[in-house]
Amino acid sequence: MNKHLEQLVKLSQFDKDIVNFDPQIKNEEEKLKAFTQVVDKLNAEVESLYQIIDETKNKRIKNDIHLKELSDKLEEIEGKHKVAKNEKEVKALQLEEEIAKEQVSFANEEINRLDSLIEIKTNELEGIKTQLTEEEDSVKELRDIVDANIAKLANSRNSLYEEKSVLVSTVDSKVLAFYEKIKRWANESAVVPVKNQACYGCHMKLSDRFYSEFKLSDEIMTCPHCGRIIYKEDQE
Ligand SMILES: [Zn+2]
Repeated sequence: MNKHLEQLVKLSQFDKDIVNFDPQIKNEEEKLKAFTQVVDKLNAEVESLYQIIDETKNKRIKNDIHLKELSDKLEEIEGKHKVAKNEKEVKALQLEEEIAKEQVSFANEEINRLDSLIEIKTNELEGIKTQLTEEEDSVKELRDIVDANIAKLANSRNSLYEEKSVLVSTVDSKVLAFYEKIKRWANESAVVPVKNQACYGCHMKLSDRFYSEFKLSDEIMTCPHCGRIIYKEDQE
């Protein structure tokens, strides 16, 4: 094979291998993301539970205040009872007392309901906090593994970069410029083999005439259909 072409085949392989690291690194990051999403969700749940508990406690305080007001009112009614002048006044006071007592029992019911809600939500919060701690530990563990994997991948990629740059320094500058120009649009398939008389970049069949010329030639040739650099594979 033409020496320049041989170099370009290797160069293109380096470029392909280097780019192949991207999905592997991304895959590692995705692994971690799946776990951090669970942590984020749990954190949001914790925050929302704290808010519900706070609001419920505030409602309970309001009910306590209301109960105090009602008890003051009942005391006041009792005092008025003692000085009631006639039956009409007594009846009015009785009605007022009945309403106040009803309100007391309603406020007590509401306090019971709020207390049990606070208890339920507090238990729920404790459960989620435990879960959150476990998830955070897993994320931490996984982050260490993922970081190590990414560092390993980055290292391998760097050594490929180095090997590639050694190769690049030996490639004729005109040949290199030609390759780079095609690579601009063809990316990692700038140099492709010909198999079964077809270009492996665009998968178009080469004409018999072109193919026989190509087989005999030792020059750098491009696919007449797509313009990629083509080469004969060893088995051809
Ligand atoms: Zn082609």
